[in-house]
Amino acid sequence: MIISAKSESRVYHMPGCRYAEMIKEENVMYKKVKWAIKRKYRPCAWCFSTEGILHREKAAVEQYLKNTGYEMENRDHVLYIRGQAGFWKLVYNEESTGFTLFHGNRAEKVTVEEAEAVGYHRQGDAPIHTSVLETCRYIAKHDEAKKILSMGSYRDLPRSTQKQREYYNSARKKDRIRGIRRVEDLFRQLEEGSSMKRYSVC
Ligand SMILES: [Zn+2]
Repeated sequence: MIISAKSESRVYHMPGCRYAEMIKEENVMYKKVKWAIKRKYRPCAWCFSTEGILHREKAAVEQYLKNTGYEMENRDHVLYIRGQAGFWKLVYNEESTGFTLFHGNRAEKVTVEEAEAVGYHRQGDAPIHTSVLETCRYIAKHDEAKKILSMGSYRDLPRSTQKQREYYNSARKKDRIRGIRRVEDLFRQLEEGSSMKRYSVC
């Protein structure tokens, strides 16, 4: 649900926005986002921004970071989150009114101060989240799956949702390819006549 004013300004706000609270009570309209978009209303520049969203979710996000041990930094409207599997970069996109998620893996030893220097790639399977908290939850799920894979096997991954089954299948495929490669490498080594001693010392 969004809030707008019966005026020519044609701007809509999220509940709790400081500017929405300035609208006179008799002028307040409560509508669905679809209603506003259809009439070409513009999203408010404060409540639909990194800072505005963060401000709205402050307590919940802080609690979440405390529980998970994740760290967050806001630099020039870009949020950097250090999770268990490297860094994440949340870039707010005005067009989609949500965060585009980028992942920088192999960055476990990098400090939050160095977060900008990490190489990032777009996290392809991540949906556009309109909330920082939702994005944090996505990151935690991703990290959990990574942890299971690093400790054991894809067989331990959860398979209750469609997304989880897709991840399971791709992990299984990767595992098979790895298995085939290992055998191929072994044969290549044997054919090249290199000694088996290598395997006992590595
Ligand atoms: Zn607003």
